[in-house]
Amino acid sequence: MALPIVHYNDPVLRKRGARVTGFDSALARLAADMVDTMHLAEGIGLAAQQVGHALQLCVVDLRGMKKEFAWELDGGRPPLDLLMPLALVNPSVLPLPSEETLYEEGCLSFPGIRGDIARPDTVRVAYQDLHGVPHALFCNGLFGRCIQHEVDHLNGVLFIDRMAKKVRAGLDDDIKALAKTTRAKAPA
Ligand code: ZN
Repeated sequence: MALPIVHYNDPVLRKRGARVTGFDSALARLAADMVDTMHLAEGIGLAAQQVGHALQLCVVDLRGMKKEFAWELDGGRPPLDLLMPLALVNPSVLPLPSEETLYEEGCLSFPGIRGDIARPDTVRVAYQDLHGVPHALFCNGLFGRCIQHEVDHLNGVLFIDRMAKKVRAGLDDDIKALAKTTRAKAPA
């Protein structure tokens, strides 16, 4: 079931997610709802904060994207169709020595707002699946970028924080207008 997506500048987007300790049906249900929400919004990633939960949980699905990226999971390379949609619980990202790349990112919590962001190309991600089983994932390109964007959300960091000053300044009016709209819709 798709859930309403929280927009900037709702305070939950700035909350660091609590570590998940209960790997139960409620967690599986939330992850499934987040996948539905992401698919309906045609996004490639979604963090729990974006549906109002400050938790260390995000989902990604890159099956619809050009596969100009590589990945290795626990020493193997499962087909993307089996790997995704992928739920990451309690993830931590370690950038590996690689060139930074520039790419125009968007965010479902910032409708219509996009901007160039530099990030490391290749990362190692340690995470648990919905059963609590730990995994080690290496990925690059859009896969690595998407996970970096989502794990930022889990720590209360937003893509506008990662933009160069000049890029951020060019979007300032749109960002302020969005914050105003969000505030107006918030329950009193
Ligand atoms: Zn986002």
